[in-house]
Amino acid sequence: MKTCPKFTFGVGDRFAQSAHAQLKAFIAAKELGIDIVPVWNKSNREHDIIGSQPQQTRDAADKAVADLGWSNDYLLDADHINLDTVDRFIAPSDFFTLDVADDIGEAADTLEIDAFIDRHPELIGTITVKGIDQPFNLTKEDIRKTANQFLKATQKAKLIYNHIVDAKGGVDDFVTEISMDETENPQTPPEMLIILAAIADQGIPIQTIAPKFTGRFNKGVDYVGDIAQFEKEFNDDLAVIAHAISTYGLPVGLKLSVHSGSDKFSIYEPIKKALARTGAGLHIKTAGTNWLEEVIGLAEAGGDALELAKDIYAKALDKKAALCEPYATVIDIDDANLPSAEAVKQWTSEQYVAALTHDQKNPAYNKDLRQLLHVGFKIAAQLGDRYLEALNANQEIVGKKVTGNLLDRHMIPLFGE
Ligand SMILES: [Zn+2]
Repeated sequence: MKTCPKFTFGVGDRFAQSAHAQLKAFIAAKELGIDIVPVWNKSNREHDIIGSQPQQTRDAADKAVADLGWSNDYLLDADHINLDTVDRFIAPSDFFTLDVADDIGEAADTLEIDAFIDRHPELIGTITVKGIDQPFNLTKEDIRKTANQFLKATQKAKLIYNHIVDAKGGVDDFVTEISMDETENPQTPPEMLIILAAIADQGIPIQTIAPKFTGRFNKGVDYVGDIAQFEKEFNDDLAVIAHAISTYGLPVGLKLSVHSGSDKFSIYEPIKKALARTGAGLHIKTAGTNWLEEVIGLAEAGGDALELAKDIYAKALDKKAALCEPYATVIDIDDANLPSAEAVKQWTSEQYVAALTHDQKNPAYNKDLRQLLHVGFKIAAQLGDRYLEALNANQEIVGKKVTGNLLDRHMIPLFGE
């Protein structure tokens, strides 16, 4: 097992053009005393949509690290993979996010559920978890219900884990995360405890776990939901994890992973407080926001680059249904609030930048346009060289957006003094 550093920060680089600008944010954070380790992540879905390979993410990250002289750790995340999609990630990756969301709810074998219940008498009755005021009260039926929902998923995770170890020549030299975030229902803290017991039974050395939290974690926009309820669940999850580490012998650094964690400004304060209080670690995954910063940079550059940004919007609007389909559980777009392509065609550079930049104090900010463009990176991929050349021609202005967004809006609010 490769030990996962305490604070890790996932960055996506859709077009493998921004690794330098991203790493500059980590370097600047380090100069401010913020010690966070970059994890470049790109899911199979995104590679498929763009037509790229995981090795390209590795090459871009390695080059940025070498060019900028980053001497700290950094990781490459095979994000949201399963048994069918993991193979091309095995060589370049040293962090694997085993996605079992699709397997949740698949009924487990009755005998296996019985065996699980027999193995875990400690889960039945009153369970006092340090840090949670109200003890859990779980019946045999509760365990049966939760096991029926999650046992199969943990078995699938083990199959993926074993496959990676075998493919790496019998060596476990990577970080293992299990993700359950892209599901309909959040997992409650008692469910989390049962899931962790099942993961420990499987012998998976899990170091980060991504539950689905209460509320909406839509791509590229702020958290939507009950912040007090989120704070309670987040704190309870931390307590459950600490309890599971000591009870089930899971890796001591096991921590929460917050997916689609970029732009969730309203929950950063509760997260920060919880980490300070407990001393827990955190993995936060940003949600491809980098690509939006690229578009903002192009819009700000004006001229041909602004025209390109307008074309991307027009095409994204035209292909909206197809672009949104793979992201249905993680976007909420109000069509009525989307400007027409003709209207955007008339926009100045300032208007485009103001609409897309995530500044909730600016009345011109448009969260619906932002979400549509977020899932619209396929359009840029289809533009091929035209998009890449525009990025290249406007490297400085785009780079500043990428670095500034990570550092000022994310790293400092979450991890700063
Ligand atoms: Zn996720």
